[in-house]
Amino acid sequence: MEAQADTEVVITNTNRDIIKTSSPIDSATQFILEKENFSHAEGGHILQSDWKKEKYIATVSPFNDGKGNQGYVYMLKSTDHIQAFITHLNRHFLLAIVLILLFLFITIIFLLKVLTKPLVSMKEATKKISNGDFSVTVPIKSNDEIGELSKSIQSLANDLNYLKKERNEFLASISHELRTPLTYIKGYADIGRRKTLSETERMKYLYIIHEESERVYLLLQELFDLAKMDQNMFTIQTERVNLKQFISSIYEKARLVFHNQEKELLFMCTSEPIVDIDPRRFEQVILNLLDNALKYSPEKSITLIEVQSMNNEILIKLQDEGNGIPSEDLPHIFNRLYRVDKSRSRLTGGFGLGLAIVKEIVEAHNADIIVESKVGEGTCFIIRLKEISDENRTIS
Ligand code: ADP
Repeated sequence: MEAQADTEVVITNTNRDIIKTSSPIDSATQFILEKENFSHAEGGHILQSDWKKEKYIATVSPFNDGKGNQGYVYMLKSTDHIQAFITHLNRHFLLAIVLILLFLFITIIFLLKVLTKPLVSMKEATKKISNGDFSVTVPIKSNDEIGELSKSIQSLANDLNYLKKERNEFLASISHELRTPLTYIKGYADIGRRKTLSETERMKYLYIIHEESERVYLLLQELFDLAKMDQNMFTIQTERVNLKQFISSIYEKARLVFHNQEKELLFMCTSEPIVDIDPRRFEQVILNLLDNALKYSPEKSITLIEVQSMNNEILIKLQDEGNGIPSEDLPHIFNRLYRVDKSRSRLTGGFGLGLAIVKEIVEAHNADIIVESKVGEGTCFIIRLKEISDENRTIS
């Protein structure tokens, strides 16, 4: 039995003299055999159970074969196997812990990289932006808050880049606009100073100088208006106005100018619409639009100002029979210094600022302006304003 079960058996008599043993007695076995403090009652008794420290775990059981033979059976199980197994297990646990720690470390490094990389690139992008370099590209990958933030930074950079480009173009155009009349002024002033010049010639040159200075003055005036609008120094003071009477008085003034150029101006308004507008600013809007109709329409053409009420809205339409605006230019005509035909516009005296001013003023009134045009047929500007309802129509 003991040969198969890896267990040592020692049989002693009641005096604990060894009768039989399965293997030679060593000191550890001897120590167990000498233990006194166990119950002599029937049934087994555990003599030694500490498998960590002792060489054996051991039990003792009394026996009586009924033929007068009595004694004890000691069963000793070697702890070598258990200890070796536990040492083996410990080694595995240690390896598992090392592997888990390594995995955790790699995961943390990876997560830190994944989380901090976009933040680092956003930090670099904002640093570049603050140094004036707006051509940055922020990587947008995720759809979470970090992705949103990087999208916002990207759109901020794009907007600033666009503004920078626009500002440079704007400055270049202004320099160009100023250079041309100033060259004329300087050139004609030089000629005008010649002593040999006749009085008629001098007057002719003085007239040109005056014309060109007027141009510069007008340009600076319009630029100043736009600058005020940009700096929010531009405020509109609205009043409750009868639009029919208001446009009618502008019409009366403008009609003569049209007439002098062999052109016709008509006004149509069938109702008495009441609106809240800044009369001085709004007059500038209508005059700018009429000025364009006059500049870009041929002789004998008709320009019509029509006011219509529609669903609590007032439409002011200015329809001319001029040369029209090509469809590719239509989206840009409200941009500053934009002119469809640069050379011809210079002859007619425009800087491409009139419509930009019109748009700013109309939008300051919480209204909007659109344009429809066909080349060779004419152009129609439509301003949409909010109408004051019947119960609030009292004019101050
Ligand atoms: P400008 O002082 O050059 O007229 P605007 O800002 O008033 O500047 O107009 C921008 C451009 O739009 C003009 O240069 C012109 O080419 C075009 N435009 C404006 N109004 C009309 C119109 N009624 N008919 C044809 N072209 C127009």
